[in-house]
Amino acid sequence: MSSPTEFEMRRRERRRRERLRKKRIRAAILLIALIGMIVIICVAVSTFAKRGEADAQNGGAASETTKVSPSPPVIPTVAPVSTSALPPASEKNNMLDILHDLGQTKRVYLTFDDGPTGNITPQVLDVLRRYNVKATFFEVGSLIKANPDAARRVYEEGHLIANHSNGHNYEKLYASEEAFINEINECYENIKAVTGEAEPFKLVRFPGGSYDSDGDKYSSVKQQCKETLKQYGFYYCDWNASSGDADGKMKDARQLLDFMTVNIYDDNNVVVLMHDASTKQTTVDALPMIIQYFIDNGYTFHRLDDIGYQSDSSSSNTAAGSPAPTAAPSASPSVSAAPSASAMPSASVSPSASPSGSSANDNGDGNLSATVSPAVTAAPRPTMPPENQGGPIIIN
Ligand SMILES: [Zn+2]
Repeated sequence: MSSPTEFEMRRRERRRRERLRKKRIRAAILLIALIGMIVIICVAVSTFAKRGEADAQNGGAASETTKVSPSPPVIPTVAPVSTSALPPASEKNNMLDILHDLGQTKRVYLTFDDGPTGNITPQVLDVLRRYNVKATFFEVGSLIKANPDAARRVYEEGHLIANHSNGHNYEKLYASEEAFINEINECYENIKAVTGEAEPFKLVRFPGGSYDSDGDKYSSVKQQCKETLKQYGFYYCDWNASSGDADGKMKDARQLLDFMTVNIYDDNNVVVLMHDASTKQTTVDALPMIIQYFIDNGYTFHRLDDIGYQSDSSSSNTAAGSPAPTAAPSASPSVSAAPSASAMPSASVSPSASPSGSSANDNGDGNLSATVSPAVTAAPRPTMPPENQGGPIIIN
C-alpha cells in the first residue's frame, strides 16, 4: 500500500505529465497555424507576381491605353521602302543633308539609339505597333548579341535596324579610323546575323553624334571617319530633333514632349533622337504623345531608308507627303493610325517659333553634353549642338 507521500508524488507526476502533454499540444497547434500562414502568404505572393508578369507582357501599356485613343492592333509586316532617291554613299553619305536636299515635306523619322534591351525595346515596339508607325533603331552590336529576341522583333515588325557601333565605348571606338570601321563592320555582321539579310541597309549613327565641335575631343577623328564610311559604302545620320531623354536631367513624359517640340531644327524632315536603353521608361511613356503630336500636325512616319522621292511633275499628289509611303505602308488603309498628310488638317508645326536660345543638349548617349544655344529660325537648318563628352553606355 502506498504511503501518503508516495501517493502525493504520483499525483504530482501525473499533473506534470498532463501539463507537458498540454504544452506539446499547444506547440503543435501553433506550428500548424504558422505553416498555414506561410502557405497562404506564398500563394498570395505568387498570384500577385503572376498578375504583374501578365501586365508586363501586355507591354505595360495599360495605362497608356487609357490615355490615348486605342487603335486596332495590326499584323506586323516588313514595310516596303523606297531608296530610289538615294545617291551612292561613296558620293554623299550625310543622311540629314540628303533628306534636306530632297525637299520633301512633313516627314518624320523616329529613331531609337542604344538598344536593343529586354525591358524597354519591347515596350517601344508595342507603342509603335499600336499606331502602325515604322521607325529606325540604331542598335549596338554587342546588345544585338545579348538581346537577339528584341532585335529580331524590331526587324520582324517592319522597323529598320541600323548601326550604332559594336561596343559604344568612345575611347575604344574613336581610338583610330581603323578601330572605328572595325566596330562598324562588327556591328554590321551582327545585324546581318539577326535579320538574315545578306546586305542590310548601310546606315550608321555615330555614338555621341558626329557634329563637329571644339569641345569634343573625338571630333577630328569623327570627321575622318565620315570619309572612311564613304569608302565602305555607309551613310550616317545624326538628328535634328531631340526628346532630351539623354541630356542628363531626368524628364517626365510631358517634359520630353515639350522639349522635343521646341527642339526641331528641320520641320520638314524631322529626325527625332530617342533611346531604348534599359533606363528609358519615360521615353516609352512619352512616345504616344510624341507620335500623336506628329499625327496632329500632318506628318507621315518613315524609316530612314525610306526616302522615296516624287518629282515635281507629280507634286499634285505629293506636295503633302502622299502617296509616298506613310506611317502605315504595310497595313490596310483602314487601320492607319497616321493618315497621310493630305488627309490631315494642315495645322502648322512651329518649331521656328521655338524660343531662341533653347538648347538641345543631347549627345545621344545618355551623357550630358554642352549646352549650345543656336538661334532657332525656320531656315536654313542649323547645325545641331555637338556632344562634348564621351563614355561608354552601360551595356546590360
Ligand atoms: Zn548612343
